[in-house]
Amino acid sequence: MTQGPETPSACQPLPVGAQPKRVTRTVDVRWGDHVVKLGGSAPVVVQSMTNTDTVDAIATAIQVKELARAGSELVRITVNTPEAAREVPAIREQLDRMGVNVPLVGDFHYNGHKLLADFPECAQALSKYRINPGNMGGGKRRDDNFAKMIEIACRYDKAVRIGVNWGSLDHELMARMMDENNQRAHPWTAQAVMRDALVFSAISNAQRAEELGLDGKRIVLSCKVSHVQDLITVYQDLSSRCDYALHLGLTEAGMGSKGIVASTAALSVLLQQGIGDTIRISLTPEPGGDRAREVVVAQEILQTMGLRAFTPMVVACPGCGRTSSTVFQELANDIQSYLRDQMPVWKDLYPGVETMNVAVMGCVVNGPGESRHADIGISLPGTGEVPSAPVYVDGERVVTLKGDTIAQEFQTIVQNYVERRYGKTSTV
Ligand code: SF4
Repeated sequence: MTQGPETPSACQPLPVGAQPKRVTRTVDVRWGDHVVKLGGSAPVVVQSMTNTDTVDAIATAIQVKELARAGSELVRITVNTPEAAREVPAIREQLDRMGVNVPLVGDFHYNGHKLLADFPECAQALSKYRINPGNMGGGKRRDDNFAKMIEIACRYDKAVRIGVNWGSLDHELMARMMDENNQRAHPWTAQAVMRDALVFSAISNAQRAEELGLDGKRIVLSCKVSHVQDLITVYQDLSSRCDYALHLGLTEAGMGSKGIVASTAALSVLLQQGIGDTIRISLTPEPGGDRAREVVVAQEILQTMGLRAFTPMVVACPGCGRTSSTVFQELANDIQSYLRDQMPVWKDLYPGVETMNVAVMGCVVNGPGESRHADIGISLPGTGEVPSAPVYVDGERVVTLKGDTIAQEFQTIVQNYVERRYGKTSTV
């Protein structure tokens, strides 16, 4: 006789959720009184990067503001020339005038040691420096340039990210490790040596920065590659070999859905294992696309994994042959946009609103059930159904909407619910 599954009472429930975040050193990234904590027990931080010419201080300040408004907790800007370095204090001042206190991270390659030394006001205006040891020359020159940047970080008490990248991995290190690999009885593949070299480079440069006087609590590490499986392996290795705070990101992730899917696949695995203290989603923008999309994607990864909450989530069914019009798609889209647009104001007025769930469903098959499980839900009429839309609040059917103004009326119900449930004087 075939044995069936064990009865539910005999089974243990499977654990749900990500593994506890691994213990790392906590790095404070400050601007004025505003402190963003990376690592330790702090929640995973969302960051992003501008794509404006930093020489255009106004355009850059505006984009930083937009990224911060979308929820970016750190914003990185390119600092690649003397002209760019000269404008950094102006960008910082413009942001301060606009009341935007997001810390700025300077992205340096090749000449960072010189720019930071020649433009002390730039060094001061930035809250963190991104250093790529693979782009600082070779031999003694690289060591000297690295030491100069670390000395400036110490002088101004700034955090640094030591970010190695497989596209700019230290050639001398890679050649040496390949030679050593050839001496092995069973040599590793070149790809495995490259992964090992990335991790070794990141940790050894961090240790050197500490020897040069930088506190280990001022150091964040990253090892970026552009293939999902390589990234997962590299960060698992990195995380097992050090306790520095880690910046996660898939470099050159790509455009559109490919970039989003690849980043999500890689980061989800690592975040689920408790690896990662800050994330950036490197999306290639569509022509004319919104740069803040990378922030939204980063937030959605963290929120859908249950690691953080940023904005109320809309549960929407995919639609099918039972939905003959676009009303349902438009309502789901409008409500999601409305909720996101409100968040810059709501997050202060209505603490906790970011955990709210809203369901927008296309017909009666799953609509009422899913709507009851949400804080607020609406079940629109499918093809051939009575043209009415029951609305559920806290699991109870409260009203049935009809006619051409369903969308507006539903939005008003959501707004009233938010005020009532999450307002500071709310007793609900
Ligand atoms: S809820 Fe209705 S419309 Fe939506 S996917 Fe299910 S059956 Fe289709």
